[in-house]
Amino acid sequence: MTQSYLHRDCPICQSKTKSVNEVSSLQRAEDLSYESLIPYWNGFFKEKIFFSYARCEECALLFAPIFYDLDQLGALYEQMSPNMDLVPMAALVKTQRGYFEELKKFSTLKNGYIEIGPDIGIFTENCSREGEFNNYWLCEPNREVAGALAKSVGHNQFTIIEDMFGFSQIPDHSAGAAVMIQVLDHLLDPIATLTELRAKLMPDAKLLIVTHNEKSLLRKIVGWRWPAFCLQHPQIYNPNSITKLLEKSGYKVTSIEKTRNYFEFSFLLKHLLWAFGIKVKSVPSIFNFTIGLKLGNIVTIATPR
Ligand SMILES: [Zn+2]
Repeated sequence: MTQSYLHRDCPICQSKTKSVNEVSSLQRAEDLSYESLIPYWNGFFKEKIFFSYARCEECALLFAPIFYDLDQLGALYEQMSPNMDLVPMAALVKTQRGYFEELKKFSTLKNGYIEIGPDIGIFTENCSREGEFNNYWLCEPNREVAGALAKSVGHNQFTIIEDMFGFSQIPDHSAGAAVMIQVLDHLLDPIATLTELRAKLMPDAKLLIVTHNEKSLLRKIVGWRWPAFCLQHPQIYNPNSITKLLEKSGYKVTSIEKTRNYFEFSFLLKHLLWAFGIKVKSVPSIFNFTIGLKLGNIVTIATPR
């Protein structure tokens, strides 16, 4: 394993122009060794550390010119314990339901279905309940969720692919829809993945992508403390840069909308009270309702061009 970091050009336009850093953490990840960053990756320390982001002078993508290389990323994801969801299930279900409503607006929900990183299948379940897809291709390396994921497709035909990007067993031009929820911000080479995926899509297929939006109001308010600035994101998009990325990968954008994230109010209230130094274990059950907040995410629908 190499210990030095990858020095990368803009992943959309490969521009060689030297970009100036736009946002950094107080202690910069690029100044620390690979070994000493591991506990930060795993979230053991409260201090926020990430690789500095610069803006490409040609396409205006916000990306980290110094970042982990593929081997380092592989090792870091490998040693992580599986997702422990802090957000209650009811809220997650509601958030993903909102994404599904967006797909439903544009897609016939027929033919093959591809999802990259479906986890336990919260989004997938909407498709199996209301769609008429004839085959589910689910790229999910986490074996611990395989049982729940298989359940989410009901009686439909499905294949779980344990390689996140192992599209080779999916027949070309067979899928009517593909879904990537919070995946694209994590990829070192998003064009390569989108291009490979495109070959699996039918000409009128719809691709649904959920990403952070670095031009969001929330980012402006919280500045460098915005949660999407983190060690897992080699770049973060905005409506313009994601449009450029998709065009470069052979798609055209149909729609871009802000999404709502749902939370249980009791969960938010507890955290608010903690912020003021009031430690409570639980709050009265009258606060157990969910609210939707626009937290700086966008849902993009694209189609092959
Ligand atoms: Zn660029």
